[in-house]
Amino acid sequence: MADYDVIVIGAGPGGYVAAIRAAQLGLKTACVEKYPTLGGTCLNIGCIPSKALLQSSHLYEETSEHLGPHGIKVGKVELDLAAMMARKDKVVGENTRGIEFLFRKNKIDWLKGAGRILGPGKVEVAAKEGTATHGAKHVVIATGSDVTPLPGVAIDEKQIVSSTGALALASVPKSLVVIGAGVIGLELGSVWKRLGVDVQVVEFLDRALPQHDGEVSRQAQRILERQGLKFSLSTKVTGAKTTKSGVTLTLEPAKGGQAQEIKADIVLVSIGRRPYTEGLGLKEAGVAVDARGFIQTDGHFRTNMPGIWAIGDAIGGLMLAHKAEDEGVAAAELIAGQAGHVNYDAVPSVVYTWPEIAHVGKTEEQLKAEGTAYKVGKFPFTANARARANNDTEGFVKFLADAKTDRVLGCHIIGPSAGDLIAEVALGVEFVAAAEDFARTCHAHPSLAEAVKEAALGVAGRSIHI
Ligand code: FAD
Ligand code: NAD
Repeated sequence: MADYDVIVIGAGPGGYVAAIRAAQLGLKTACVEKYPTLGGTCLNIGCIPSKALLQSSHLYEETSEHLGPHGIKVGKVELDLAAMMARKDKVVGENTRGIEFLFRKNKIDWLKGAGRILGPGKVEVAAKEGTATHGAKHVVIATGSDVTPLPGVAIDEKQIVSSTGALALASVPKSLVVIGAGVIGLELGSVWKRLGVDVQVVEFLDRALPQHDGEVSRQAQRILERQGLKFSLSTKVTGAKTTKSGVTLTLEPAKGGQAQEIKADIVLVSIGRRPYTEGLGLKEAGVAVDARGFIQTDGHFRTNMPGIWAIGDAIGGLMLAHKAEDEGVAAAELIAGQAGHVNYDAVPSVVYTWPEIAHVGKTEEQLKAEGTAYKVGKFPFTANARARANNDTEGFVKFLADAKTDRVLGCHIIGPSAGDLIAEVALGVEFVAAAEDFARTCHAHPSLAEAVKEAALGVAGRSIHI
């Protein structure tokens, strides 16, 4: 007899959600987690601490520089970094303890220690106190991802840091070089820029946020440059020398050429993340991985080994917490004999810079490459009454709709509350909505969401306020 119906390995947003959904469906469930707190990368060293610092640093910058136009005068604004970091840690603690509460509520056993798959239905859990073996009808791998290292730039989490170190600097450095103009680079680069650091971002490709819609990434770079971030595009870092006084990086044009050196107090390596499956026993258990180490599945979270499932960052695709969560729900439902499914076309992505950058669906570049005929509707926040009232008018909403059917194929928003505005569009995409559906839906006035409606009206060339 198996001890459990389901053992989930890893308690990040993929794993803990899979465990809760499995328990809701009446399955006897345990979750193995080796980190001292639950919640995985997202709650401990990812989404949550980064958003706590983005919010605090935004308030600091707003109070220091942007209250004048509202008729508010403040005296000297001072930074208490230790208090800012302590608040971030408190937020993390509240969230991770929240997952412990949810485990107790749903009668999920937290098996503390490192999990290793001994074969279908058998998981070994190694902790300081000893090693135990547990049986389960189904094993779900949700072990997440880790930082991709950069050869020649060894991370010490002191002077050369990953996102984990950048979320916990003990003092404000004078200068920071960020390697990689992706999501982590721009979010954490923004945090430290707002706190007074000289930030230079080095990117291998020819634009920031290279996976985003080109028009959006160009606008994002312009706005961030106005905020003081500096960009070196089409540039590669070939080496790093660390001394007590800082780090010297060697840069070269991406295509090769004259090398140059730059110095920084701190260097952040943020060039992507790779699957984390160390010590999991995949090879011995016969679980297949692809060339980059991502666990291979059949598209429905089943690995090649019967009874072994995999979800979240460890299987690749979008490395996002909400994608991992939805996969956790779908996998648990499939295990319970239901019809679990994730519609990847409707998964939104948000970059939490100021302004925020959000999208769902395809970019213009993708539509062009696949030869799909499309129409564009665009509306700037400068023409939105609420954005003007808020003194927060940077950015635009852009719809991409099928030229023949009007079906929404993509939506890209750079602007205030973009991360919340995209939710309406994701729902529409899930329901296979046309641009006209958004255009004919009544939106409250004055709201930022009216910019979404106006951009949808723009697809048919009939925006009202521009
Ligand atoms: P993880 O969250 O990585 O969790 C895996 C867990 O498995 C970990 O707790 C690990 O300790 C455990 N584990 C691994 N191996 C074993 C083992 N053998 N035995 C026991 N336990 C094991 N995504 C967003 O959607 N929005 C954001 O704003 C966002 N911000 C981010 C900011 C940063 C700085 C970073 C680094 C990431 C961010 N992400 C964000 C990405 C997000 O954190 C990940 O996509 C998400 O955490 C993946 O969830 P997961 O459950 O697959 O894995
Ligand atoms: P990323 O893939 O977003 O960006 C990495 C960037 O580094 C890319 O622009 C890439 O071209 C560049 N790059 C790669 N190699 C390079 C090199 N040698 N030199 C210079 N540049 C190089 O990766 P990330 O920012 O490290 O984030 C990792 C993952 O975490 C992402 O998949 C992201 O989805 C997730 N994340 C999400 C959020 C969010 O949803 N708000 C926030 C943080 C992280």
